[in-house]
Amino acid sequence: MKQVVVGLGANLGAGQATLRAAACALREAYPDGFAASPLYRSAPQHCPPGSPPFWNAVVGFAVPEALAPEVLLDALLALEQVHGRARSVPNAPRTLDLDLVLFGDERIASPRLTVPHPRARDRDFVLGPLAALDPERRWPGTEDRVADLWAAFAGPRTLERVAERWC
Ligand code: ADP
Ligand code: MG
Repeated sequence: MKQVVVGLGANLGAGQATLRAAACALREAYPDGFAASPLYRSAPQHCPPGSPPFWNAVVGFAVPEALAPEVLLDALLALEQVHGRARSVPNAPRTLDLDLVLFGDERIASPRLTVPHPRARDRDFVLGPLAALDPERRWPGTEDRVADLWAAFAGPRTLERVAERWC
């Protein structure tokens, strides 16, 4: 088995309920080793003016070694669709965004998939929840602990921790 991390975000519609429903669906599909970070609010970053704040969390779970990352990506994109995700301009408000942040220790660069997620280390709303969920984890290809990356994080910190148990 390998341990996967998925980032969840929403800033349109009933964001908290959407994150809960999505996390429950992932737990049902991938129950092995499932764990969720606390739930957070964060300010919109690089978003169109007037974008609402986000709900954010990350979840971790184990998948079989044989599971191809593109298959998991397809499952995440399908779950986005269930929750009415529409794609217009980059960083537009969204009902649900599911990003494959980590896939074991793998580094992937394919036309459809870049893992670790290329912007994960620059985003407080990914690194903060991940540091709460799995602080000892090493960033793939480095000796860096997630907790140390978060402690050294120099970008804007807009996170507000709103619930410990939410899914
Ligand atoms: P963003 O999450 O950056 O705002 P989108 O969710 O609209 O943008 O981007 C979706 C596309 O990004 C997917 O169709 C997928 O092919 C591609 N992509 C590349 N790497 C990843 C990843 N690690 N996780 C999720 N999507 C990825
Ligand atoms: Mg995405």
